[in-house]
Amino acid sequence: MKLYNTLSRKIEDFKPIKPPNVGMYTCGPTVYGPGHIGHARSYTNFDLLKRAFLYNGFKVKHILNITDIHDDMIKKATELKISVAELADRYIPLFKKDLKELNIIPADFYPRVTEHTSKIIEMIEVLVKKGYGYIEKDGSVYFDVSKFADYGKLSGIKLEKGKTGTRVETDKYEREEATDFALWKASKKGEPFWNSPWGKGRPGWHIECSVMASEYLGKTIDLHAGAMDLKFPHHENEIAQSEAANGVKFVNFWFHGGLLEVENKKMSKSLGNIFTLEDVKNKGFESLALRYLFLTCHYRSKMNFTWKGLGGAQVAYQKLVEMTRSWKKGGRQVVSDVDVGKIDDFRKKFQEKINNDLNIPEALAIVWEVAKSNIPDPDKLDLILDFDQVLGLRLAEAPIKKFQVPTEIQRLVEEREKLRKEEKWQEADKVRKEIEKSGFIIEDTPEGPKVKKK
Ligand SMILES: [Zn+2]
Repeated sequence: MKLYNTLSRKIEDFKPIKPPNVGMYTCGPTVYGPGHIGHARSYTNFDLLKRAFLYNGFKVKHILNITDIHDDMIKKATELKISVAELADRYIPLFKKDLKELNIIPADFYPRVTEHTSKIIEMIEVLVKKGYGYIEKDGSVYFDVSKFADYGKLSGIKLEKGKTGTRVETDKYEREEATDFALWKASKKGEPFWNSPWGKGRPGWHIECSVMASEYLGKTIDLHAGAMDLKFPHHENEIAQSEAANGVKFVNFWFHGGLLEVENKKMSKSLGNIFTLEDVKNKGFESLALRYLFLTCHYRSKMNFTWKGLGGAQVAYQKLVEMTRSWKKGGRQVVSDVDVGKIDDFRKKFQEKINNDLNIPEALAIVWEVAKSNIPDPDKLDLILDFDQVLGLRLAEAPIKKFQVPTEIQRLVEEREKLRKEEKWQEADKVRKEIEKSGFIIEDTPEGPKVKKK
């Protein structure tokens, strides 16, 4: 299986340390709110990779950590006047519910930071002893990036000369600049804390992944996945901590998923374009239609989410479910040599796409080629169900939905009716064209307008 490795910046043959076993670590959520569709895309990408491993006969041990102590958690808990632990307990089940609805195979373990503080303290002690960590007057401990010669090997961001000793206190950095970062943060008044050799405090953000990865998967792991925006500083710092403490290579393969924009804009609170899976469902779309949409974009590419695009994915997804349902198992006749050749060819092509840096969009195109081909129905079904082990679209079980007009289209239909009543024909026509652009047509009947799929 060929895969792009962010560390080497090359497509390489994926080889685990102890085949057929694969140790896979993914950075999980900071649980201070519901996840958005950008997170949904990341976890879907990691799931596709994991499913491709399984499809290729690998056995995967998958760890996904939960960040339940962090600057953002403390801020949010303070706002809501609840404890950080209560905040975590509120959002962890929601995170797992989202994963389930997107048909993401659960991880083997979901370790929480607050359950690993003693191991974290142990690793920081090693780093201090080896001279990589230094203690500040207030009892915070920082990692000295100038001491780690390989700093920057993943992201390419290196420490500038003469900048030694600049420090960043916050868990997330504002600027893409190599600076010393916190391993342990002395607690401020009212903050949750744990006792440590340096006084009361809590772990910095990056140390948790170094500790939990080695705790569950060993000192050198096969593959570490995360979203592209974690490459620096988070993953760079993980490498520095782990390799400085353990003296061996931390990760053989780094897998980074591309980010998601909404209508060509970065998601942000101020733009009001941060959408959750709940928003998707409230607008009348299925969670698995969103998954289908994610499958149409290569995992490393930046993806532009639009509601129109999701509308198209919903229609295509339902069509595929209906087709799959119409192919009956069994009742098979003798398959001709020509058909046997075609079936083998489809399977081979699908495997090639999957194993070529996880090219899911092209694999999905093979699915449609099969669906539209003239091979016998039972063979179509066999093939599609085989492919669905990787795609995870639940094609055999998903309900066939009666056609529903998306809320947004319904709103346009009503707007057009209003304009027609006011005899604003030109404007009404503009709205009709907009509806058609989204893949729907209006038929005016004596009982009023009827909306159909184009
Ligand atoms: Zn992490």
